[in-house]
Amino acid sequence: MTAILHRQPRQSLPVAVGGDGPYVIDSNGKRYLDASGGAAVSCLGHSHKAVVEAIKAQLDQLPYAHTGFFANRPSEELGEHLVARAPGDLSKVYFVSGGSEANETAMKLARQYFYEKGEPQRRHFIARRQSYHGNTLGALSIGGNPGRRAVYEPILLPANHVSPCFAYREKPAAESEAAYAQRLADELDAKIRELGPETVIGFVAETVVGATLGAVEPVPGYLKHIREVCDRHGVLLILDEIMSGMGRTGHLFACEEDGIAPDILTCAKGLGAGYQPVGACLLSGAIHDTIVGGSGAFQHGFTYIGHATACAGALEVQRTIEREGLLDRVRHQGALLRQGLEERFGNHPHVGDIRGRGLFIGVELVEDRATKQPFDPSHRLFARIKAQAMDHGLMCYPNGGTVDGQAGDHVLLAPPFIIGEQQVQEILDRLEGAVQGALHEIGV
Ligand code: PLP
Repeated sequence: MTAILHRQPRQSLPVAVGGDGPYVIDSNGKRYLDASGGAAVSCLGHSHKAVVEAIKAQLDQLPYAHTGFFANRPSEELGEHLVARAPGDLSKVYFVSGGSEANETAMKLARQYFYEKGEPQRRHFIARRQSYHGNTLGALSIGGNPGRRAVYEPILLPANHVSPCFAYREKPAAESEAAYAQRLADELDAKIRELGPETVIGFVAETVVGATLGAVEPVPGYLKHIREVCDRHGVLLILDEIMSGMGRTGHLFACEEDGIAPDILTCAKGLGAGYQPVGACLLSGAIHDTIVGGSGAFQHGFTYIGHATACAGALEVQRTIEREGLLDRVRHQGALLRQGLEERFGNHPHVGDIRGRGLFIGVELVEDRATKQPFDPSHRLFARIKAQAMDHGLMCYPNGGTVDGQAGDHVLLAPPFIIGEQQVQEILDRLEGAVQGALHEIGV
């Protein structure tokens, strides 16, 4: 018996009772190598002593004091840490408890910015098909995943969507990457003009698409063009780095690699590495000054904003990433994992694409490599791979079959930054077993 409403039937889930570096241990003593950081969360594994100690120390000193009454040191120091490293004019931070809250906050910040600026008619957000920005109603409204939206469609905010940047499936072979990037920017430009530029608040996109598509990175130049289109119309660029940020791609902020900075950037998951639930919304000085210089305060708030213990944990996670040189390690181990995947799966008849950045890698499975025809979604191949992987003692993050019917099943890999070379080999061995097992189940 359980009182918990689980995502899956309770009896199908092992009970997690321990952590040892990149392994999770269940109540039967079985060890699972965490090759996905859960959902790209656990970037320091499951037993990092310095982080645990920092949290314990904060609990001993002061677990929580409401930010309506007090500032606290951990949130101030974490804020300084992040803005000192953030690109562009991202110079202020708002701390929340997770990714959906961060995106809700971003949407409301952007709206209030224009309200204070004397442009209250701005009301539209534009996002992309096949995107995921969270499960609260605002975040779900801008999300572009029909499967997740369907039940709630009548109560969502009006949404505007343009194409994702998904070269493997949406760029014809004869089109250059440069032309593709320009075409997508033109599509955004046209959508803004269609809505009326004076009515558009912002364009929201994941820097590297995570859960819905499996580590799909933008083609070179895409984000630069998008930045130009937004600037041309005075529209804010909001980048969702909830999955792809905080070092996962080998840069602290994924958009650094693309050479641009957004007006607002959201992050969560790797920020607290799962040791504490915490997310953040970074914003430009211009947005901050307009709001503070206007009505004086951001009309928003949650009970746990700037939570002292959550921020103390995240601060130690971020300091650890620097102290242990983990961004270099992400690039190195990521290259190794990528190379291993190419060797094992590069010529596999049912692997269509291997993609991503750093330790954020997607493997897309297809029925036919030449035509890129996905497997019949009714096979639920992704779910079979997940189950097989758990049998093999591997956590990976498969998804698919639900996205417009336009993408195949994929496996997202996002292992902790601390994994060793031996564990990279273990991921490859166990994943190969899981994929073969799942394909066998559907008669392939
Ligand atoms: N945005 C992206 C890109 C995500 O991947 C997720 C979660 O998977 C979210 C937002 C929502 O974050 P949370 O589940 O912490 O609310």
